[in-house]
Amino acid sequence: MFGQRLRHLRRARGMTLAELGEKVGRAPPVLSLLENGRREPKLSLIEALASALSVPPSELMRRQPPSRRAQLEIALAEAQRDPVLADLGLPPLRVGAKVPNDVLEHLVTLHAELRRQRTKPTATPEEARAANADLRTMMSDRGNYFAEIEAAAAEALAPVGYPGGALSQGMLLAVVSHHGFSVQYVQDLPRSTRSVTDLRNRRIYLRQEALGMHTPRAVLLQTLGHFVLGHSAPADFGEFLRQRVEANYFAAAVLVPEKAAGTFLQSAMQARDLAVEDLRDVFSVSYEMAAHRFTNLATHHLGLACHFVKNDEGGIIYKAYENDGVVFPADPTGAIEGQRMCRTWAGRQVFAADDPFSPYCQYSDTPSGTYLCTALVDPGRERGFAVTLGVQYEDSRWFRGRDTTVRMKSTCPAPECCQRPPAALATRWDGLAWPSARAHSHVLLALPSGSFPGVDESDVFEFLDRHAAS
Ligand SMILES: [Zn+2]
Repeated sequence: MFGQRLRHLRRARGMTLAELGEKVGRAPPVLSLLENGRREPKLSLIEALASALSVPPSELMRRQPPSRRAQLEIALAEAQRDPVLADLGLPPLRVGAKVPNDVLEHLVTLHAELRRQRTKPTATPEEARAANADLRTMMSDRGNYFAEIEAAAAEALAPVGYPGGALSQGMLLAVVSHHGFSVQYVQDLPRSTRSVTDLRNRRIYLRQEALGMHTPRAVLLQTLGHFVLGHSAPADFGEFLRQRVEANYFAAAVLVPEKAAGTFLQSAMQARDLAVEDLRDVFSVSYEMAAHRFTNLATHHLGLACHFVKNDEGGIIYKAYENDGVVFPADPTGAIEGQRMCRTWAGRQVFAADDPFSPYCQYSDTPSGTYLCTALVDPGRERGFAVTLGVQYEDSRWFRGRDTTVRMKSTCPAPECCQRPPAALATRWDGLAWPSARAHSHVLLALPSGSFPGVDESDVFEFLDRHAAS
């Protein structure tokens, strides 16, 4: 879209590639690559081009095609790259200037309908679990550190003069508007979404709500992250998951910037006083985000391996990460989400602690080694989730809480650890109990079809219609 808009504006100004190139100090072939969509422009070049064409940068970055003709050409080019249609074996179609608009309209409509009919449900539960497992392996292999997203976050913060510490609301909005977006808080956001973005008017809609795990600050940056990182509509469930992880990473990297947090953590380590709660307080983010951010920076900046896990009061795991060798419960396909964690682990024990909302520390002896684990119940909207950060025993010396006297032993997955009831109880009740299970449906559910799993597209379009007019 950027290329189309650039070409349209350049021609409307009667400029050649060479003339525009001279104004922005780039060779004509470079601009040609941009116009043909073969290269992504940097923000600084967008600004230079906009100024040379006497338009605001947002004019170049709008997602709206400059004309219906351009829109059709883009749609047809995208359709020809669409893997769903690739197995038709159609010869590539070059759209010259002589192909009339109604022919293009016809082809584009046919492609859209064919795509709709051929698109399968987004993922079966097995595919969803496999995609989760792949993603976790990839994250573990790189110590949960994504250099290119750190760079994108640093670049996003650079123009607004971030001074360190918590990111103020004003600075946050400056980051957003620097990328040509505005923010609107609404009461009627579709239930199936956490934000909706109007790409035509570059407007991000958010629900105004009380502070919780997903504060509007985090949701806003997760949304912006998709655009800054150049995501397009996900082609499959694996890509959907990867994009979500990347967007969340971007949000955390803006709210807890690498440089400031790295320095902060290094001095805490020198003082042997590392604690996730301090990261939470200094950068004013949720405990979950602070713990997750710790995993991003621990291996790369501190040389520490670690693990992270989020579970509910029943021990069901919702998110997990490790590169310290801890063994999470897994089903035969390797899926961890939806599995029940050992009763003796910190994430279970914290629910019985005197104050589950303050950090609870214990040493856990497991078949893969001893870990110092710090867990805390992060109060969610409906119920609490425990967030645990753990490290190997030999690294416990760097952490606050290492003087805990609590030591628990886990032999899971050995059934006699905690998966099977104690023998005395079992003999008394075996065959005489009939519990009715509560389903943990949203972890395991087959996801509904569509590009954005679980999102009601009609709701979203109606919503946008309602608000775009205002
Ligand atoms: Zn156990």
